[in-house]
Amino acid sequence: MTIHQYVKGIRSQDYGVLGKAITLIESSLEKDKKKASQLIEKCIPFSGKSIRIGVSGTPGVGKSTFIESLGTYLSKKNKIAVLAIDPSSTISKGSILGDKTRMLKLANSKSAFIRPSPNKGQLGGVSCHTKETIILCEAAGFNIIFIETVGVGQSESEVASMTDFFIYLTLIQNGDQLQFIKKGVLELSDIIIINKCDQNKKKCQQVGLMLKTALQYSTDKKKQEVFQCSALLNTNIQKVWQYLEKLYVEKKENGTLKKNRQKQNFFWLQKAIENEIKELIFEKTSKFKKRIDTFKTNPPENSKKVALKILKEIFTKDF
Ligand code: GDP
Repeated sequence: MTIHQYVKGIRSQDYGVLGKAITLIESSLEKDKKKASQLIEKCIPFSGKSIRIGVSGTPGVGKSTFIESLGTYLSKKNKIAVLAIDPSSTISKGSILGDKTRMLKLANSKSAFIRPSPNKGQLGGVSCHTKETIILCEAAGFNIIFIETVGVGQSESEVASMTDFFIYLTLIQNGDQLQFIKKGVLELSDIIIINKCDQNKKKCQQVGLMLKTALQYSTDKKKQEVFQCSALLNTNIQKVWQYLEKLYVEKKENGTLKKNRQKQNFFWLQKAIENEIKELIFEKTSKFKKRIDTFKTNPPENSKKVALKILKEIFTKDF
């Protein structure tokens, strides 16, 4: 497919072409990487107009149910994309987010596009690709984008670094105050949802109140809002959206949305350089090894001269 065909397909909301374009972006082949970069460049002018929302929480807390519930509600008037990052797949070879049949209602809606991004173990990590996938989805006209992840490794902070809002789902537990929120997650979050409140309404209210009080005394500059929800029964899901929408308008008007995205772009620039260096070293190490081995039977007297020659030879790269 040519770049022009990709762009045309994406712009005309052809989900098949969009899927292929994402696969191109995820490819680690050198020729695909160049093409992917050109494609992103062409899509950037059409991007930036969505609300980007990160959703996290431990497996089983109800993330898919929540996205399905909120997404279905929103899909009547919006175009919803759901991108799932699953950092567990390299560890377990299975996929926590991708294996199950998920978000069936939303998956069947014409206004929704769901894409799991299993980490195939590329050195660059999958999150750089997710950032680019957001651009493609925006160019395809999706105006609300959910990025779902489980709390493994760095995935949460990376998702927070590519979204405008971060929602953390948790359950009622007997832990006191903020103890049951995973360390470090609070600072990333805009909204904390105590889910499955249908199971114990009273306890849920108590925990919600306790959490709100604790947050008032938190030293964190960011203000988090707490909601008690049942993703399964749709309880308070619309309230979460009303709050988010209000926050979005506020941030847009006072310029913090733009500022935040600029900060994020700088973060991803650094990350992209880091990833390229890692990939380069990985690729070069095996090339070096092969080249050095050619001298095994006849090693040179002037080792430094030959070493520099090999270095020059291998590090010539057309960026
Ligand atoms: P995820 O792993 O975080 O995506 O969790 P899922 O959305 O797959 O939900 C895990 C299980 O919890 C499923 O059986 C859901 O039906 C159930 N579940 C999700 N939300 C609720 C809720 O609000 N109330 C109850 N009772 N069950 C829920």
